[in-house]
Amino acid sequence: MHCLSLLLVEDEAALAHSLLRGLTEEGFAVDWAPSAEAAEGEFARKGHDLIVLDLRLPGRDGLDFLRDLRGRGSAVPVIVLTARGSVEERVTGLDSGADDYLVKPFAFAELLARIKALARRHFVSPSPVLKVADLEMDTIRRKVWRAGRELSLSPKETILLELLMRNAGQVVTRDMIVEVAWGADFNEFTNLIEVFVNRLRQKIDYAGSESLIVTVRGAGYLMRRG
Ligand code: CA
Repeated sequence: MHCLSLLLVEDEAALAHSLLRGLTEEGFAVDWAPSAEAAEGEFARKGHDLIVLDLRLPGRDGLDFLRDLRGRGSAVPVIVLTARGSVEERVTGLDSGADDYLVKPFAFAELLARIKALARRHFVSPSPVLKVADLEMDTIRRKVWRAGRELSLSPKETILLELLMRNAGQVVTRDMIVEVAWGADFNEFTNLIEVFVNRLRQKIDYAGSESLIVTVRGAGYLMRRG
């Protein structure tokens, strides 16, 4: 993997400096932005591979920055840093297009593990184009087509679809989905899996098409080979 460039958006200088030092030692090229405004300029200039984003910032908050980013069509992986116990912040963060979250205070090793996992998901792909029936995904450009028509999927829906496509013909368990789409400490949102899968089904199926995603009772989900 090439040297990943990270943008760290964090207003607490002491924390930012310690993360900067740690991440640089791990071989990442890291830029620090102490506000959303500064982050915007940095990201526009360099187009980093991954963003670590504190949600509570002076001026524009992190969620606002994130929504704006996704609104402009950027699929850059984003890990949000949220306050302890703020379930609402986490849910809003994920809804707004975050790929993962970490609750403060966190151990550096945990942040590092999340960054590496996210980078693997986004940047290492054994085959760039996946095909199942008339469904196609370019896993590098994160674009999806059904019967030649491009679909509009959220980053998380794309991750879920990629998992199903890579395992076509086999059952994908709820645990696998949680692991890939939400990370290790997913617990209170388990009903979100059904919501996500149903939304994904609606997006990829068209009138008259057979649903490609089948629910396997008590086990999980399965993508038909077509
Ligand atoms: Ca903060």
